[in-house]
Amino acid sequence: MVKKGEMLYAWTSDAGLVKKAECGGAVSGLLKFALESKAVDAVLAVKKGYDLYDAVPTLISDPKEIDNTAGSLHCGTVLMSKLVASYVPQMAGKKLGVVVKGCDMMGFLELAKRGKVNLDNVLMIGVNCGGSVSPVPGRKMIREKFGVDPDTVVKEEIDRGKFIIKLADGTHKEISMDDLEDAGYGRRSNCRRCKVKIPRQADIACGNWGVIGDKKGKATFVEVCSDKGADLLTKAVAAKKIAVEPADPKGIEIRAKTEASMFKLGDKWRKRDFSALSPNLWETIAKETARCTKCYACIDKCPVCFPVADRFKHSSTMVRPGTLPVDQMFHLRRLAHISDSCINCGQCEECCPMEIPLALFSHAIRTEADSFFEPKLGKAPYTN
Ligand code: FAD
Ligand code: SF4
Ligand code: SF4
Ligand code: SF4
Repeated sequence: MVKKGEMLYAWTSDAGLVKKAECGGAVSGLLKFALESKAVDAVLAVKKGYDLYDAVPTLISDPKEIDNTAGSLHCGTVLMSKLVASYVPQMAGKKLGVVVKGCDMMGFLELAKRGKVNLDNVLMIGVNCGGSVSPVPGRKMIREKFGVDPDTVVKEEIDRGKFIIKLADGTHKEISMDDLEDAGYGRRSNCRRCKVKIPRQADIACGNWGVIGDKKGKATFVEVCSDKGADLLTKAVAAKKIAVEPADPKGIEIRAKTEASMFKLGDKWRKRDFSALSPNLWETIAKETARCTKCYACIDKCPVCFPVADRFKHSSTMVRPGTLPVDQMFHLRRLAHISDSCINCGQCEECCPMEIPLALFSHAIRTEADSFFEPKLGKAPYTN
């Protein structure tokens, strides 16, 4: 019987799934089992769309379709949590399994606080996350830094601090993430600052860090974070859908060291980004937001932002349709509304057509507030 707190190597017994999966297919195997055993009514995962740079969120109820979602898309910057809020009417009273990176997980916790989802109905299969790369800059990086046509890349991965691309002819090329990021490429800026690398508030947290020996590349390191996660894993093992063995103690140590070094890297980027901003925070915000076109994408995508309609019903207390150039109060209202609970998911910045560094502003404010107030980002005392 699997228990909360256990650390295991896990892999799927489904030979077809193994071929498509990133590291042994425990995640996809568990999602498939959750559907087959009716532990969930549907699964929300991402699948490759047109190409590697196109991560398409997909809602699945047929277990066979899980195979199409196996594998990691590091240029997939979609945030699962706010999407779920849109499915809520269809999902009322139903159980949903979802793959979550750290930011997706925090988004769910924020949605739950706002009464938008009931966590009892959500099974969160977490994936560790060193960071993701925006698709358009990612393609540019591959063309300019690797000298490769991005359309010829058949697989990308981030491993041992390197961005690695594999080409159709079987060769691969790699460049250190540090070099790429120093040159202005690499992970999104919010990901560089992110310190929620192992999503322990999900039901289980899965990743490749700490998988060593003959299981390297063939199994996923699973940390069991809740009783719900332990129950699913116990049943999947009993049904012979998932195989497990205790994680190698040396692997546990390596994983902890890797996480610690990612925290240090996150701190380095926070220092760099925030210290450049802090002397003129409000002046910079005023200057940068002046080019806002009021498209409201930053509000639509934000998992902590749910404007409340005002008494006139055609606008909200935060968003007042109106003139351009934008009224500065729009941004001050938005920042006042979200900064205390901003999870640094980067969606606002990612979707802003005017390339305003919105996540940087709200993350900087949230981080400063966190030095005085609880709950701190990623450390909230939520229960599963
Ligand atoms: P699979 O069975 O292949 O299933 C993978 C699941 O991930 C699928 O359900 C798929 O829908 C989902 N998925 C793929 N791309 C995304 C995406 N962009 N957003 C949300 N869901 C997605 N592990 C580490 O230990 N260290 C890391 O630094 C690390 N970085 C990662 C960065 C990203 C962007 C992603 C997506 C994963 C990362 N992982 C990392 C996790 C690792 O790559 C594997 O997903 C994990 O080991 C599970 O392997 P698996 O074979 O069991 O997964
Ligand atoms: Fe991963 Fe954090 Fe970036 Fe989310 S914000 S994609 S969890 S590094
Ligand atoms: Fe994410 Fe931006 Fe909202 Fe913060 S403000 S939670 S970074 S979308
Ligand atoms: Fe303005 Fe950018 Fe937000 Fe659109 S996404 S409303 S342009 S700040």
